[in-house]
Amino acid sequence: MTKSPQDGPPGAILQKDNETYAIVPRTPVGLVTADHLEKIAAAIRKYDIPICKITSGQRFALVGLKEEQLDEVWQDLGMEQAKVKSTELCMHFVQACPGTDVCRYGKTDSLGLGLELEEKFTGMKLPSKFKVGVSGCTYSCAQSYVRDIGLVGTKSGWIFAIGGNSGGRPRIADRIAKGLDKDAALDLLNKFMEYYVTNAKTRERVSHFVDRIGIDAIKEAILTEDTAPVA
Ligand code: SF4
Repeated sequence: MTKSPQDGPPGAILQKDNETYAIVPRTPVGLVTADHLEKIAAAIRKYDIPICKITSGQRFALVGLKEEQLDEVWQDLGMEQAKVKSTELCMHFVQACPGTDVCRYGKTDSLGLGLELEEKFTGMKLPSKFKVGVSGCTYSCAQSYVRDIGLVGTKSGWIFAIGGNSGGRPRIADRIAKGLDKDAALDLLNKFMEYYVTNAKTRERVSHFVDRIGIDAIKEAILTEDTAPVA
């Protein structure tokens, strides 16, 4: 019988050999400590883990573990498991650039907003996979314009963009609002999530949803008179 990546113990992703697993310790917005790195390195040596890969979601994937090793590896790592498996229909991760914390070009606190979004929305059940990119300036290093939702910092506040995708049918996100402070950006994201949950078909990524419903209809449904539209 063909197994799916969902088969297997919690927190483990079955690999294509149908025998070994990958695990992904949770590292919100890609922030890691010396303690995390030491524990990951120690686990790679102790269990002879063949592959350790940094993913596009700014996480460490430890690949090639045997099922009987999983519990012990998690215990040694002492880190939280990623909240969701790669195939689940929900928000998967928030990608964030360094922003004002360390980058000379940063205009907004992308790490702070990214952490808040990750805490609030990761794992939330949605019609499809859902990814967010939060960039601290218009260079958009967190790939905000090819994510389901993109936030981009400017000196007058956040630009809010929807419908980006970097997959087989790439799409650049539509910018629908600008000049948002953090609370206004969170409020708009909440409104969009509600609209998307109510109106999208199962497995309809935001990019396809925007193409089907039309960007103008979405703007009319979720923007208010106070929201500064992007010309
Ligand atoms: S998007 Fe801007 S703030 Fe963020 S890392 Fe890139 S240059 Fe720096």
